[in-house]
Amino acid sequence: MREFLRKLFFPPQCSACRTLLDWNPPGTSAAQPVALCRDCLIRWEAEKTEACAICGCRVSNCRCMPLALQKAKCTGFCKLVYYSPRKSDPVQNRLIYYIKRNADRQTPRFLADELVPSVYSGLQEIGVNRDEVADFVLVTYLPRGGRSRLQYGTDQAKELARTLSERLGAPMRCLIRRRRGADREQKRLSPERRLENAKHSFLAARDADCNGKVVLLVDDVVTTGASMAACTRILRKLGASYVLGVAVASDEVNRERI
Ligand SMILES: [Zn+2]
Ligand SMILES: [Zn+2]
Repeated sequence: MREFLRKLFFPPQCSACRTLLDWNPPGTSAAQPVALCRDCLIRWEAEKTEACAICGCRVSNCRCMPLALQKAKCTGFCKLVYYSPRKSDPVQNRLIYYIKRNADRQTPRFLADELVPSVYSGLQEIGVNRDEVADFVLVTYLPRGGRSRLQYGTDQAKELARTLSERLGAPMRCLIRRRRGADREQKRLSPERRLENAKHSFLAARDADCNGKVVLLVDDVVTTGASMAACTRILRKLGASYVLGVAVASDEVNRERI
């Protein structure tokens, strides 16, 4: 009943263009989350077929990492699309923008579902089969700064991690926290300053334990990889055997440059 009323008063809209959603894509069930209208879904599917210029793979099969992540001994980096801040208004930019600013569960669910196949194959590459995921894998995330979390009422990486953990059947753990006062926005800093700032922005969470585990480190978008690298180092120090970075999008500069 509550669901019915919610739909009546807040009919679902496309997260990218805000047209009303009154459809289910072919081959999906009513239980599966729909976040995009037909046109935006077609554009989204096309973005997923873009290829990495370094390894030649489709972006969702590519594991290439920015240099900062490699140096931090990240095991691999799974992503779905390239984030294109310089292109005018691509659908993935709108989706990322949307989940940063709206406490909506549907869109992170849609994105987590999209990530599942890529994450399974990333895990398989390091020798973890589907039936072993619950025993060997933990899901964690890069916590959002307190100020933005309060402003928008959501932590998009946490939402993504939560849903991914449900879908994979792997426990979610809060392993990383932000240092108090380290709330400065990374995007305003130069790449060198980002690295320096990120190193001092994160700490291991209290009682964090991931010794001997494979950790999926989730974020919405990776640009220089400075924050994800800082968190990877913390997880490695805590004893994680492997750290697999997982994000909806990687900045398109990472497509051509390591
Ligand atoms: Zn749309
Ligand atoms: Zn690649």
